[in-house]
Amino acid sequence: MEEEVQVDQNFPLFSRKTKPATRKPVPAPTSIEETPKQLDKETNSGPTPSHITFSDLGLAGWAVQTCNELGMKKPTPVQYHCIPRILSGQDVLGLAQTGSGKTAAFALPILHRLAEDPYGVSCLVVTPTRELAFQLAEQFRALGSCLNLRCAVVVGGMDMITQTKTLMQRPHVVIATPGRIKVLIEQNPDIPPVFSRTKFLVLDEADRVLDVGFEEELRAIFECLPKNRQTLLFSATMTSNLQTLLELSANKAYFYEAYEGFKTVESLKQQYIFIPKNVKDVYLQYILSKIKDIGVRSAIIFVSTCRSCQLLGLLLEELEIDAAALHSYKSQSLRLSALHKFKSGQVPILVATDVASRGLDIPTVDLVVNYDIPRYPQDYVHRVGRTARAGRGGLAVSFVTQNDVDLIHEIEAVLGKQLEKFDCKENEVLDDISKVYKAKRVASMKMMDDGFEEKAASRKAQKQKMQNERKGRNKKQKRGVTKDIEV
Ligand code: AMP
Repeated sequence: MEEEVQVDQNFPLFSRKTKPATRKPVPAPTSIEETPKQLDKETNSGPTPSHITFSDLGLAGWAVQTCNELGMKKPTPVQYHCIPRILSGQDVLGLAQTGSGKTAAFALPILHRLAEDPYGVSCLVVTPTRELAFQLAEQFRALGSCLNLRCAVVVGGMDMITQTKTLMQRPHVVIATPGRIKVLIEQNPDIPPVFSRTKFLVLDEADRVLDVGFEEELRAIFECLPKNRQTLLFSATMTSNLQTLLELSANKAYFYEAYEGFKTVESLKQQYIFIPKNVKDVYLQYILSKIKDIGVRSAIIFVSTCRSCQLLGLLLEELEIDAAALHSYKSQSLRLSALHKFKSGQVPILVATDVASRGLDIPTVDLVVNYDIPRYPQDYVHRVGRTARAGRGGLAVSFVTQNDVDLIHEIEAVLGKQLEKFDCKENEVLDDISKVYKAKRVASMKMMDDGFEEKAASRKAQKQKMQNERKGRNKKQKRGVTKDIEV
């Protein structure tokens, strides 16, 4: 018989010993200025001592061997500090830069516990984007390769009947985006009991998942998880919501912090080109034509909207530059196929919206181009963090137009450094202007023929409707999720 689900009326995020929260929720930051100051706390972000190996952290022999086989000889600091805490049963809130080995920091101890007791769903990982969900599953599968691990990915844009069937088979690890797991939990009464013995809840990219936008989803998830689970939050950026949680969780959860504000790594070269808006494509074509000469294996070009992502993808196709485009107006199968083509090296260029700015770990990415400057500096840090990972070098080039000057100054202020000027000869770049303009006209026509605008408009209307409905419901509830998360 199924164990009864223990529903906690207040949906505590961290488990056990809870008392009602009295603080008002802090709204999620809308810009960098609103990001709060850090708490005073004991610093615990030191490097891994040189003699420490994975077996010193208390992990099972098979896990240590798997790490070695995957080329992970020594724990990174986030792993050194967090793995023993997770193994000892503590809740953990970890803040560490992207590329620091966060995934293995939670996946290894979870798999260690799972190997001891492989019954039912042991772990639910919630992550903000579909691409990250698939990437996390790959990492879980690699780290648990000798365990016969059953790992399910439950994200939007995929068949719900198949997902329901998969969940009913009680995989060991479920990796989900918030929206889809909520729908499955709410639509099928057989699904909540599947999670009744979950031992771990992980919120990956927790700052984003705890964003007010996912409030309803988190409520639905907390309702079907048992109280005595362990909760692990990992994030690369500190926000007001996380800050609130920290204050509420004082002395209960272990807090690991190697977070030093919005920082980029030293091995990343950051440059800008100041150009008029109407020649951005010409400069892009020029840079992409040179990538082999400057030793770039693959590059991600970030744009601000799905529309410009689609158009730029078509333009590059017209210019016979191999590229894949990734944005949220594409079907999930097209999104996966674009990412697969890029990751497997079939195409060296990915044009993407911010759907690809967080967490994606693709070691061959040597160049990031900000075709559009992001509105918030933290998005800049996430984007450029797709290159120069794990001690490697990388280059980020930002296209700055007359409209972006304030944004770029804001980014420089946050980074505490000035971007260098990208060196190129204007005459040489503009040689190809007619070819690029012609290709752009053809790409625009193709986009019209494909009916992109109509599809986009109907998607937008649908999204707006859902947002309005959600706003109505939230007004009725009049509370933020952070307030409900007791610790
Ligand atoms: P993450 O921060 O989880 O996205 O990890 C970034 C990259 O570091 C991934 O490619 C991991 O495979 C790699 N990695 C994680 N832990 C280690 C380690 N201890 N030694 C070497 N590489 C690692």
